[in-house]
Amino acid sequence: PGLVVAVDGTSGSGKSSTSRGVADRLGMRYLDTGAMFRAMTWWLLRAGVDVHDPTAVAARCAEPAIVSGTDPLAPTITVDGVDVATAIRSDEVNAAVSPVSAVPEVRSRLLELQRAVIAAESAESGIVVEGRDIGSVVVPDAPVKLYISADAAARAVRRAAEQGGADVAATQESLLARDKIDSGRATAPLTMADGAVHIDTTPYTLDEVIGLVVALVED
Ligand code: C5P
Repeated sequence: PGLVVAVDGTSGSGKSSTSRGVADRLGMRYLDTGAMFRAMTWWLLRAGVDVHDPTAVAARCAEPAIVSGTDPLAPTITVDGVDVATAIRSDEVNAAVSPVSAVPEVRSRLLELQRAVIAAESAESGIVVEGRDIGSVVVPDAPVKLYISADAAARAVRRAAEQGGADVAATQESLLARDKIDSGRATAPLTMADGAVHIDTTPYTLDEVIGLVVALVED
C-alpha cells in the first residue's frame, strides 16, 4: 500500500482542517471517517430507528449505501445517492452519532467501507485518514500517526464559529458529551495509538499545525 497518514483526536481539535490542508499540500487524497458515522446516523434517524437501541441499530446498519469522495479541497458524502454533507452537521446528528458509533455492527460495516477506500486511493497518491480509531484499528501499520487535541474552550470557540456563530457554551457541552462517550465505549475507544505523535493545537494557528505535520510526513 502507499502512504497513509492516520489522524485521530477529539471533536473540534482542528483535526479536519489539518488533515485536509496536509493532503492538499502533499497531493494526497483525504477520507473523513467521522462523516461516514454521521451519514449512518442521519440515515437511521430518517428511517425512524431508535438510535439508543443498539439491537435496532445493528439490525438496520447494513442498509444505507454510503459513498465518500476523497478530494481534500471538496470532500463529498452521499447516502443512497443523496448529498448529505450539510445535513450530517445538524444538532440532531451531533446528539445521536456517539451512541450509534458505539454499536459494534456499525463499526465493522464502516471499517469495511473505509478499508476499501484506503486500498483504492493509497496506492496511487497516498491518503490522509481522519477519525477516532484510525491509528489503532483501521490502519494500525500506518507509517505516520497523529493524535490531535486542543483545550476544550479553544475547541468550542472554533466549532461555534464554523457553525456560523453558535452558542459557545452549548457547543462546548455537546463536544465534551461526545468525547466522553467516544473515549469510554467498549469497541475502538478514542485513545492515542501506539507510535502516534501528539500535537496539542491550542497555541498554534492552522497554518502552523499544517506546516508541522507536512514536515513530519516528509521526514
Ligand atoms: O469527527 P466527527 O466529530 O465528525 O465524528 C463524529 C462522531 O463519529 C464522533 O463523535 C464519534 O462518535 C464517531 N467516530 C468514530 N470513529 C471514527 C470517526 C468518528 O466513532 N473513526
